[in-house]
Amino acid sequence: MKAAPFAYVRPGTVDDALTELGRDGAKVIAGGQSLVPVLAMRLARPTTLVDINAIDELYVLDTDGDTLRVGACVRQRTIQRDAKGAAVPLLRLALPWVGHRELRSRGTVCGSLAHADPAAELPAVAACLDATLTIRNRDGERTVAASDFFTAAMTTATQPEELVTSVHFPHAKPHEGFGFAEIGRRHGDFALAGVAVRVGAGDPARPTARLTAFGISDRPIVRDVSTLVREAVAADGSRTPEAALRAALVDGAAALAEDVVDTGGDAHGSTAYRRQLIAALASREIARAYVRATASSTAEGPA
Ligand SMILES: Cc1cc2nc3c(=O)[nH]c(=O)nc-3n(C[C@H](O)[C@H](O)[C@H](O)COP(=O)(O)OP(=O)(O)OC[C@H]3O[C@@H](n4cnc5c(N)ncnc54)[C@H](O)[C@@H]3O)c2cc1C
Repeated sequence: MKAAPFAYVRPGTVDDALTELGRDGAKVIAGGQSLVPVLAMRLARPTTLVDINAIDELYVLDTDGDTLRVGACVRQRTIQRDAKGAAVPLLRLALPWVGHRELRSRGTVCGSLAHADPAAELPAVAACLDATLTIRNRDGERTVAASDFFTAAMTTATQPEELVTSVHFPHAKPHEGFGFAEIGRRHGDFALAGVAVRVGAGDPARPTARLTAFGISDRPIVRDVSTLVREAVAADGSRTPEAALRAALVDGAAALAEDVVDTGGDAHGSTAYRRQLIAALASREIARAYVRATASSTAEGPA
């Protein structure tokens, strides 16, 4: 099938892009890795595609205070390759799981957030780190926390005439550790279930921990799991080896999975199966993140 007819514009400034987006039925195209298949299947019929790739200011990738600012045209692969990306280890852990290298060379970080697929990796990272998105419209600019940005499956706090211009991810702090893993049918597929984890272990006996589960609801689901980790650490003594800590987390992770998984079953897996996946991934990745945090390591995951 081919896309329905549409007009195509390639403005050179954000202001011009916003003017174009003010027209009925206009839609942003960034990397096109999600939108083009949607057009080809005629699941969307925009009247005008507003290509933002000629807007220089949207390629910004820099340090802004203690955050990494990622402009709307920054490719996912750039974060993997540019030294600045290392300041946000959870992004680096998650990116190898996003499709394939060729997709990441075109696909943008902001495009993935704006697309808001509930099984996508980058929305889970943004939610776990409580990243902040900057959104512009013709009246001005506003910032939205990731926790308020994802409102339902493929739905965000943006309006059709608005543009996400950048996202700010907080830099990792000393004594923070991260974990990320998912299960999909094949590498490069969207996740059946996955977790992103951030642990702070300034005081190893009283860690703080936050977990995002994805692929299991209509949006990334965030939970503070500090109590769970503290109880597991206390059960086994601080400076716990990873395997022992993981074992101490099993019951708590099962309860967490019961709480967060609210998707119905589908052809790829039942609700019960997804709960098992979340329980197993959560206990493993929390234990890993804790060990990394206590070692002050920012070691990265799968290549
Ligand atoms: C075979 C295949 C496998 C894939 N596997 C994965 C996977 O495992 N994990 C995963 O997360 N994704 C996967 N994807 C999807 C894809 O990689 C990302 O979702 C994609 O990179 C989104 O970014 P983009 O720049 O290509 O966005 P586009 O396709 O250009 O846009 C996506 C949507 O976001 C909107 N949008 C884009 N940028 C903005 C902006 N700045 N402001 C407002 N709205 C905007 C567009 O209007 C559109 O609705 C896969 C895609 C394919 C084709």
